[in-house]
Amino acid sequence: MSNSLLPQLIQAISTTIENNADEVAELDRAIGDGDHVINLQRGLAALQAIEAELNELDWPPALMKVGMTLMSTMGGASGSLFGTLFISMSKAARGQILTTETFADIFHQGVKAVKQRGKADLGEKTMLDTLIPSANRLREDSAKGTEYNQLLNNLSEQAIAGMASTKDMIATKGRASFLGERAIGHIDAGARTSQLMICTITDLLAQQN
Ligand code: ADP
Ligand code: MG
Repeated sequence: MSNSLLPQLIQAISTTIENNADEVAELDRAIGDGDHVINLQRGLAALQAIEAELNELDWPPALMKVGMTLMSTMGGASGSLFGTLFISMSKAARGQILTTETFADIFHQGVKAVKQRGKADLGEKTMLDTLIPSANRLREDSAKGTEYNQLLNNLSEQAIAGMASTKDMIATKGRASFLGERAIGHIDAGARTSQLMICTITDLLAQQN
């Protein structure tokens, strides 16, 4: 990448996750095994350690490096799923010029790969309940030519709505699926961290605009 956007995003996301770590740990303790935030922080620390290297790369190989690093350092179900997201985005990004529209399509393809990897879809109380509606919203808004700040705002609102929708769901994938109705009333940890990351990105992009 030609500027320092990726390192800035990694820093900002790390700060957000740090600030919300107790809450996320509590969410995963309630209906999982409590390690989601630790897994994610391990991945983010690994990304911070290679920031200089990432900064030298064009964005498709940078996304590949991010995905491979998350895949090999995070662990947990979320490690392979977030890894898949970035690796698939990297593949979709090859040969593309970075615009809102191409990014929307690339993100959409990354989320599709996460669905395949997790054998999961909307309504199963996972990170996909944040990621799928967010990817759809971004694609719709970029196709419609929605003004940039409005598009960012819509994306962050959609991510929040998707995250919140997991509260009243029964889980059919992941550890929370063992709990049946007892999972109702708890937001999914991966849906929350996905939303926190999307909102951090939209905030930073809006500030820079
Ligand atoms: P683990 O469940 O192995 O302890 P983490 O705690 O790091 O891994 O991540 C748990 C999160 O991963 C869940 O909150 C959920 O959002 C997501 N997740 C788990 N299984 C799936 C799946 N099959 N598809 C999509 N997301 C999933
Ligand atoms: Mg866990």
